[in-house]
This record gives sequence, C-alpha cells and structure tokens, in this order.
Amino acid sequence: GEALAVSARVAPLGSRLVLLLVEDLTEARRIEAVRRDFVANVSHELKTPVGALSLLSEAVMDASDDPEAVERFAGRMQIEATRLTNLVQELIDLSRVQNDDPLEDAEPVRVDELVAEAIDRCRHQAGTKQITMAAGGTADLHVWGNRGQLAAALGNLVENAVNYSPARTRVGIAARRVSGSGGDMIELAVTDQGIGISDKDKERIFERFYRVDPARSRATGGTGLGLAIVKHVVASHGGEVTVWSAQGQGSTFTLRLQEAGVARDRAQQHPDLD
Ligand code: ADP
Repeated sequence: GEALAVSARVAPLGSRLVLLLVEDLTEARRIEAVRRDFVANVSHELKTPVGALSLLSEAVMDASDDPEAVERFAGRMQIEATRLTNLVQELIDLSRVQNDDPLEDAEPVRVDELVAEAIDRCRHQAGTKQITMAAGGTADLHVWGNRGQLAAALGNLVENAVNYSPARTRVGIAARRVSGSGGDMIELAVTDQGIGISDKDKERIFERFYRVDPARSRATGGTGLGLAIVKHVVASHGGEVTVWSAQGQGSTFTLRLQEAGVARDRAQQHPDLD
C-alpha cells in the first residue's frame, strides 16, 4: 500500500525513479523484518537458560534434604549460567563487529600469532576429545586488519572445527599467499574431519542463530552467532569466507584476507610515499 501510494505520487518523475523508490521501500521492509526476527531470536535464546535457571533453583530448594540432588542441580545451573554468559559475550562481540570501524585500528598482524592464539583458545576442548591440531605455512605472513577481530574470526572457525568433530580426529590450519585482484591476499584454511554440512545448510550457517542441530550446538556451548561474527569481520576487512564440506567427511572454512606486505606497511605509515 505505502509503496504504491508513493509510486503514484512520483510517477510523473519517470519510471526509473519510481522503481528505485519502490526498491528502497522493499529493502527498508526487509531490514525491518530482519531486525524484528533478530530481537525475537535474542529474546528466545535468553529465555531458554533463564527459564532453566529458574526451574533448577526451585528444584534445589525442593531437594534441600538430598545433598546429591542439590549437587546435581547446582552443576546444571552452572552450565546454564555459562551458556548465558557466552551468549551475552557473543552478542556484544557481534554488535561490536557490526558497528565499529575495524580498520581504524588496523595494523599488520602476524599470521603465526593469530593461529597460535586460535589453537590456544581450543586447546582444552581439543585435549578432552584427543583431537590433534596442526598448523602450517604461517611463517613470515602478515594480514592487514584489526587484531582483535581477526583473532575472533579465526578462533571461531577453529572452535567450530573442534566442536563438530568426533574424538581422535585432526584439525588443520593452513596459510598461504595467493594473488587476488586487489593485490596479494592471505588464505587461511581451517580443515576438520567432522560431521560436515549439507549443501542446503551451507547457505544458511552464516545467518545469526542458524544452527543445523540446535541441541548439538547447545551441548557444546554454541550460540549460533559465531559464523555471523566471522562473516562480518571478513566483510569489513574487504575479505571473503568460503566453505567446502562433504557430509560425514569434514569441512574446510577458508578466510581470504588482505596481505600486509612490507611495501604495504610502509605505505600505511608514510602515505606520502605512494
Ligand atoms: P554455533 O555456536 O552453533 O557453533 P556458528 O554460527 O559458529 O554457531 O555455526 C552455525 C552452525 O553451523 C553450527 O551450529 C553447526 O551446525 C554448523 N557448523 C559450523 N561449523 C561447522 C563445522 N566445522 N562442521 C560442521 N558443522 C559446522
């Protein structure tokens, strides 16, 4: 209705302008719908652990003369509290990567440091599943960008690789330089031998809160926001993220980021050299 009313009013201005206006309104509506969905999703995701905590605290009170039951319920309360903390932290991270200009603090970032940090972050989880982590090709490479955001992006990919893999498998991180249209790029590929992702799901996993198997994601502390964060970080850095996967065989997520070569660093520090 609204769109038609506007188009009727501006019709004399020419059909191209009308088309643009109608497209604009459609786009505005789409954005509004996405925002509404997001708020609904956040509310739902927050309600789940809060509801569980409330039930569990009641159960603790009812079981006050059964120390074993109290301990069991308290343990589950801790899990729900952790889930809540993770979710709030990831929401903060997501809002940060969506709103800040990451390139304001951009610098050359050593790839071997990013990789070591990502591995460190998953060491405990990988250890309990006896997953081997190995990295290669990272020496002497630098990417251009915001260190914290790049670390979050790679960390999320490695964390997923570990979370969605069975015990005693291998997670590999490989780095290499490739030439792209806008100069040299660095490719960082995270490969796992995990459950894989179907073609249908591949299209959706980068959406906020989309999870192939919500129960499994929740069991590993997942929030469904990790890949949305990765996508935003990469986009704001002028990079790309792609996924290859075969169900039951494993997945490879590849980040493609601007290289920070020596020449580039000098140009950044002394713009007049350009
Ligand atoms: P989550 O917190 O659930 O891991 P993500 O946004 O990081 O959320 O990932 C979205 C979904 O994509 C996951 O729930 C999972 O179903 C799927 N996924 C992500 N990484 C992998 C992987 N390496 N192997 C298999 N499935 C994956």
